[in-house]
Amino acid sequence: MNSIDEKLQPILSTVLHRNAGEEEFHQAVHEVLESLGRVISKHPEYADEALIERICEPERQIIFRVPWIDDRGDVQINRGFRVQFNSALGPYKGGLRFHPSVNVGIIKFLGFEQTFKNALTGLPIGGGKGGSDFDPKGRSDREIMRFCQSFMIELHRHIGEYIDVPAGDIGVGGREIGYMFGMYKRLTNRYEAGVLTGKGLSYGGSRARTEATGFGTTYFVQRMLGTRDTGFEGKRCVVSGSGNVAIYAMEKILSYGGIVVACSDSDGYVVDEAGIDLALVKEIKEIRRGRISEYARLKGEGSHYIKGGSVWDVPCDVAMPSATQNELTGTDARTLIKNGVIAVGEGANMPCTPDAVHLFQKAGVLFAPGKAANAGGVATSALEMQQNASRDSWSFEKTEERLATIMHNIHDACAATADEYGAPGNYVLGANITGFVRVAEAMRAMGVI
Ligand code: NDP
Repeated sequence: MNSIDEKLQPILSTVLHRNAGEEEFHQAVHEVLESLGRVISKHPEYADEALIERICEPERQIIFRVPWIDDRGDVQINRGFRVQFNSALGPYKGGLRFHPSVNVGIIKFLGFEQTFKNALTGLPIGGGKGGSDFDPKGRSDREIMRFCQSFMIELHRHIGEYIDVPAGDIGVGGREIGYMFGMYKRLTNRYEAGVLTGKGLSYGGSRARTEATGFGTTYFVQRMLGTRDTGFEGKRCVVSGSGNVAIYAMEKILSYGGIVVACSDSDGYVVDEAGIDLALVKEIKEIRRGRISEYARLKGEGSHYIKGGSVWDVPCDVAMPSATQNELTGTDARTLIKNGVIAVGEGANMPCTPDAVHLFQKAGVLFAPGKAANAGGVATSALEMQQNASRDSWSFEKTEERLATIMHNIHDACAATADEYGAPGNYVLGANITGFVRVAEAMRAMGVI
């Protein structure tokens, strides 16, 4: 890891001590503090009144029991979380993740990142995140519904359109949001459309929200490639995952003339030299809710499936890690660099380990951090809130145009900040500083809160 300014060392020590064992949270704080040394040298006032310490401490953390009954009639218990990290810029905003790996440290890392990401969008949203260690895999539709309803019976006390607005994340898509919204409506006796985003179009959802994160990441990377006078056209791309972010990243890459040669899920990856057939991936994942291994069986000749292994072994020009945190390691980064990768765009949150990021930067590979590159999802969620507040519904074209403008602005702001702080082309630094300054300005104006 890179070093941290000595004035910020005590802050990191406190975070490590106070949040013992929460490795992903430590990693996320470490990365932001690494960038802030340059800020406090130039603007020492940002270190006053324990501002940075306050930014590293969530405003509120809620942990609750989620009991539910499975199809056999047995009682199951899961744990629910909501971390309301920072509300300086607006109501807490951030997704819900249902995955067995979820714990408080993971939710805190995601909420911390979300605070800066949301600030980067320029829209009035604070940062939060939540979820459960519930594993939706293999569960029937009825079980998913009962779980979502039980989860909302507790969560509804803590959220609201002016308080905290959750959305989807890993394991939480349109189906789950629908079940949760239905229960929220019933419990509160209010049609408060702006309390959740990622809703279906028939009850207050926004067009282009489903596509937004994957499309947004691709817009960002296209603009980043533009700084080297190139673009996706004709480039070999590898996208990890085959969920919401991955599917729509692939769709936008294809529309730019790129060729996606591999994608994955948590069991393994498929390679198709002729280019991944996205319609088939959508059918397997969005309709059948199946495994990516089925791709090779259905597609047949020209494609093959590799169980386990690393999708980053497949040579490419552009890599888009879009599955989960720490999925691309230093070893993977070395392989990608050896194979001639020119750009990496994080569709997922913190998918590259710190040593992988460092290796990319050292090798001169363009690197787009998730905090900036995947902000299109939450930005479009904020556009969904705008539509709900004005009881309006925009066209796909209008929404996508707003998304594209937001992503270009984020890219340009990160690039300009990196230049201003003497690190041209360092989007990690640019994103961390731009997001931090926006949150810090608002917090300074509000006194010690
Ligand atoms: P989905 O649940 O739709 O898809 C996740 C994909 O990643 C699946 O293919 C899944 O495979 C794979 N995956 C999950 N965990 C692992 C793991 N431990 N190892 C390998 N593969 C894994 O989630 P999303 O596409 O919504 O989210 C993906 C990433 O993008 C997450 O980091 C999320 O926080 C981030 N993100 C999402 C946003 C959104 O709008 N959805 C917004 C911003 C960021 P399998 O099915 O086998 O589990």
